[in-house]
Amino acid sequence: MNKNKAAHKPETAIESERTDKAEARLLPDLRAAGLDEIAAVVRQLEQPAYRAQQIFDWIQKGIRSFADMTNLPADLRRRLAEEAELTTLEALKIQISKIDQTRKYLFGLADGEAIESVYMEHSYGTSGCISSQVGCAMSCSFCASTQGGLVRQLSAAEMIEQVNAMERDTGQPISRIDVMGSGEPLLNYANLSRFLERMHDPRGRNMSYRAFTVSTCGIIPGIEALGRDFPQVNLAISLHAPNDVIRQQLMPINRSYPVKELLAVCKAHADRTGRQLTYEYILIAGVNNKSEHAAELANRLAGSLCHVNLIFLNPVTESGYKPSSMAAARVFTELLAKKGVSSTIRKSMGADIDGACGQLRRSSVTGHKDIK
Ligand code: SF4
Repeated sequence: MNKNKAAHKPETAIESERTDKAEARLLPDLRAAGLDEIAAVVRQLEQPAYRAQQIFDWIQKGIRSFADMTNLPADLRRRLAEEAELTTLEALKIQISKIDQTRKYLFGLADGEAIESVYMEHSYGTSGCISSQVGCAMSCSFCASTQGGLVRQLSAAEMIEQVNAMERDTGQPISRIDVMGSGEPLLNYANLSRFLERMHDPRGRNMSYRAFTVSTCGIIPGIEALGRDFPQVNLAISLHAPNDVIRQQLMPINRSYPVKELLAVCKAHADRTGRQLTYEYILIAGVNNKSEHAAELANRLAGSLCHVNLIFLNPVTESGYKPSSMAAARVFTELLAKKGVSSTIRKSMGADIDGACGQLRRSSVTGHKDIK
């Protein structure tokens, strides 16, 4: 997809792309299949109905291959391996932060592409930040993920497997999931929906929708769809500017969805769902971190059910932007508070391994120097 075109004509749903390998199989990818879909496969294979539950349970445990389904007959395991897909991600590289033990994973995909995901430990539990697309078409000027444009959508199976693979490596269940890695999730809505449904399935992982946060650069039709279909899922908006002039400089999507329109839809979303929205605001020295910017933002957000996360820019070689000083960040948060807008100066995790916001990239296969 042409990235400029995508910025002007966003779509809320793009069908998942399947690999040639997957298309060669007779049966579907079972990684993101529901119990009913697995039951249909079991019928197709003329196996007893109870096998569906067994297969489903193994997949929920995040096993790596059909061969690991040890309570299935060897012949059935062999047939599944030959005829069905079970997307499995292997880490090509794992970097561990010396600052906070955050782990950044580079996962290889079946078609030779690669994506990054991040695992974090907090006082309240564990969280995973996953990618929703290979690359990104949105061209935000401070972000590493968009440097090579959009390559393709990630399937729901590839999103689920990012979580599984981090859990397999750490041995820890992930309790919160942020869809905040590379990509714009609301432009991969069909696969995002399937991912959320599968992770929430009470017969499977049974994760509360409230454990998920979907972050968007402000795709209005997608925000409306998410509010309608998944009202309990947390919504984070990458705002990063108080007005159209600055936002357009940072985020080309603002030409399609200007600040006033976006904030009106966000307010309607919060009213409809009763859920507090988060606005992400990366503080960039001299660009959007001055007192006048804080005052303008405070005026726009006053009275809304929201919280502002103020984030220090994590420098990306290509952008040339510099992070704000702590002093400017403190003034910013005080000015927001004066208008009753709550905010937090957020600690970036994994900054020493380029694992923080805006630093995730496609892969080492693209030849970026800073994937070590
Ligand atoms: S900030 Fe998000 S939407 Fe913008 S380019 Fe980066 S990944 Fe894409």
